Amino acid sequence: MGNALRPSLILLALSFAAPAQTAAVRTPSGLIRLPVETIAAAAVAGEMGAAAPPEALKAMAVAARTYIRANPGRHRKEGFDFCSTTHCQRLDLSGKYPQITQAVAETEAMILWWKGAPALVFHSADCGGHTASAGEIWPGLSRPYLPAREDPWCSRSPAPAWTARVEWPVLERILHLPGLRFVAAGRRSASGRVLSLRSNRGPIDAGFLHLAVGRALGWNLLRSRLYDVESTAQAAVFRGRGAGHGAGLCQKGAVEMAKNGADFREILDFYFPGAVPGITPRGLSWRLHRSDSLDLFTVGAAPPVSLPAGETAWREARRRSSLDASCRPRLREYPSVDLFRDSTGARGDFAAVTRGCVVHLNQPARLQAQGRLPRILLHEMMHVLIEANRRAPLPEWFEEGLAEHLAGGTTRRAERARVEQLVRRYGRASVLRFLQTGLPQ
Ligand SMILES: [Zn+2]
Ligand SMILES: [Zn+2]
Repeated sequence: MGNALRPSLILLALSFAAPAQTAAVRTPSGLIRLPVETIAAAAVAGEMGAAAPPEALKAMAVAARTYIRANPGRHRKEGFDFCSTTHCQRLDLSGKYPQITQAVAETEAMILWWKGAPALVFHSADCGGHTASAGEIWPGLSRPYLPAREDPWCSRSPAPAWTARVEWPVLERILHLPGLRFVAAGRRSASGRVLSLRSNRGPIDAGFLHLAVGRALGWNLLRSRLYDVESTAQAAVFRGRGAGHGAGLCQKGAVEMAKNGADFREILDFYFPGAVPGITPRGLSWRLHRSDSLDLFTVGAAPPVSLPAGETAWREARRRSSLDASCRPRLREYPSVDLFRDSTGARGDFAAVTRGCVVHLNQPARLQAQGRLPRILLHEMMHVLIEANRRAPLPEWFEEGLAEHLAGGTTRRAERARVEQLVRRYGRASVLRFLQTGLPQ
């Protein structure tokens, strides 16, 4: 779908090492390589669900995307980057939630930064009223933006306390401590989480106990480390609050904050105080400019370039093709090639790339100065229409050639010539119908 730039611009693309824009994910149905944005959407769906308010979904999207960007190769030894379980992030890859698609699109490529690097980000279902510092859960991972703090939001509607009963014969087997008949909470962290336990077999590390019970009996039993424990004649009985490790973003609290009017930046600032959300380390983010029929996004304080040219192109594309789309086109203007490539994963020598209803423009001010912007916009708007109307699988040459034919472009001459051969043979109306039926055999 790219519209290649002239060779002189290719040089611009060589000076940055772009981070990977796709990652290999192990799913129940096998290994697949997916765009970061798709994985982020799947993590929001799997971890938070689609019922949360939009600002909570956006905060979760930024947190999930940051996790993906900061942890490539988490399963490198096994030959992929991420699994689809809570070990990494729980992924729901069904892709059927428009609210989540919207939240991911509105925060596209945005992550949390700390001192110029992607932040270390965690999230859990319910901190039980007090978040954990990263350092108390994982010694060595303490960060100033991951403190332990009271969470007045999730505790507004405290979840019912949970109880986990583990019979002594089971516990002594999974902990490899024969004769174990008594345990009690020992040291606790600043947030109240159990760090160690006392027992008739000596001290037990709470992290070790948590892992051992989770692996042997499932992660839904000992839901957090915010608990008390009582020893009866038959079993150790854990009574606790919250779910998950409790560090970073509390999903339940984020939902409460959004319900009370907080936007996603306020939510992120509460759970990751001091980390900067943005599409660059300087915290630049998208600014929306709406026009009659388009949404245009610019970066930081950059002035919009492709309005009204985008409006004209959209009108002209629909007129020339007699096609229409149910979506409202979105234009994203990237002021630098590294930002274009890092955010879209497309080659830096492409002038633009269109995905669905979104047209990504590589340095539009430059394209405008070269007098090429109107033509490129028209070509990309044709792609928006073609994608919106395509119901059958079609070869890339046909889509490119059709876009060039309809837009009167000359960048993809060979593809355009092939499509025009079809037009001479079948007529234009039939060629447009190939979008629904596929190409004739
Ligand atoms: Zn994993
Ligand atoms: Zn909470």
